[in-house]
Amino acid sequence: MASVVIAGGGQAGFQVAASLRQAGFDGAVTIVSEEARLAYQRPPLSKTYIKTDAAFDSLLLRPESFYEKNEIQFRGGERVTAIDRAAATVTLSTGEALAYDHLVLATGAANRSLPVAGADLPGVYQLRSAEDAEALRAGVHAASRIAIVGGGFIGLEVAAAVRTLGKDVVLVEAADRLMGRAVSRQVSAFFLDRHREMGTDVRLSTPLQAITGTKRAGGVTVAGGETIPADIVLIAAGVKPNDQLARAAGLATDNGILVDGFMTTADPKIFAIGDCAAFDSPFADARVRLESVQNAVDQAKLVAARIMGTASEPYRSVPWFWSDQGPFKLQIVGLTAGADHVELAKLGDEGKLIAYCFKGDRLLGIETVNRPGEHMLGRRILGQDLKVAREDVAHHAFDLKAHVARLAEAAQ
Ligand code: FAD
Repeated sequence: MASVVIAGGGQAGFQVAASLRQAGFDGAVTIVSEEARLAYQRPPLSKTYIKTDAAFDSLLLRPESFYEKNEIQFRGGERVTAIDRAAATVTLSTGEALAYDHLVLATGAANRSLPVAGADLPGVYQLRSAEDAEALRAGVHAASRIAIVGGGFIGLEVAAAVRTLGKDVVLVEAADRLMGRAVSRQVSAFFLDRHREMGTDVRLSTPLQAITGTKRAGGVTVAGGETIPADIVLIAAGVKPNDQLARAAGLATDNGILVDGFMTTADPKIFAIGDCAAFDSPFADARVRLESVQNAVDQAKLVAARIMGTASEPYRSVPWFWSDQGPFKLQIVGLTAGADHVELAKLGDEGKLIAYCFKGDRLLGIETVNRPGEHMLGRRILGQDLKVAREDVAHHAFDLKAHVARLAEAAQ
């Protein structure tokens, strides 16, 4: 009987196990999870979880009974510490060795720490796990002024969430715009205005120099020497992939574990998926590593199908992502970072936005705010490779829904 060992019990690791059972896999399925808690959703951590007293169970992907019923062994609070490829075994933090026929690396990513003075003082927080979120929400509750370092998705989501609690928030970002690695300048500018309207003191082009305080954090010092007082500091400076295990086992890594179109490493028994995997995407010109629920779930489903022998097409799921920042839902379809031309739809509504992102004549993707209909159409356009031209979009009367309907009619 074949056995599958999954290193990492997060979004991707859980999904492989669930999809294997759904497809009728009858071998042993073991998830080894560094975190003691059953697999849960991370997106609410930076949105609702930190501003409410929601119970942890509300985050669970499935209750304990699901694992029992499906005979999925969840070994919480244990780490995979080494892979012996020749013997096809992994070593656990308990010292035990586990044999595998297929090993899935779903180890996720870890927060990037900043090499500044004061970074390890009490009162300095990071946010990746439910445990981090619970510590942060206790810190937020007791604080009246919060400094956030980093203007990416997580820093901004937390800023919007804690503003609704009436806390003072200052957010410092080293780059000259928000979410600079992920969205167009137009969307960055839109969110800068919205966060300032929500009352966050956003400082761009403001690198952190140090966290002040002796016994606990008392604020941040930024480039130029200004010290901004704060009761707590959240460092939200991005992540790095957990690819050390693979590297130590002689597998290639480069900002993530390198895999082919079937998420397979150079060792045919070992897969890597989710935040820790780097792959060639048909939606980008370069190799990518994506940090999204969609990517983790779809890659996990593909690997389960591969193990079952039913996957013949390489990974080509349309990438999509969302971020809730206060009342503004940002949705991105496609990988828009390489865009050289952005066309904004003329909506006449300040709280909504549609940005069509092109590279040359090719539509790379669509970024929307509070326009879920266009986001869904965007998924269809990229999935079916439908043509949307720059000239069409630039026309003041352009209507995406009517355009897609016309294309569908013409194709019949
Ligand atoms: P993870 O879910 O991080 O799971 C990896 C697990 O592996 C972790 O539990 C880790 O402890 C464990 N692990 C690591 N090394 C080992 C080892 N050696 N042995 C055993 N276990 C190990 N995505 C969206 O699409 N939309 C959002 O709005 C959104 N919001 C987010 C908000 C927050 C606060 C965070 C942190 C992430 C958010 N994401 C969002 C990203 C999304 O949650 C991740 O892309 C997704 O969780 C990736 O799944 P994964 O299984 O690859 O990694």
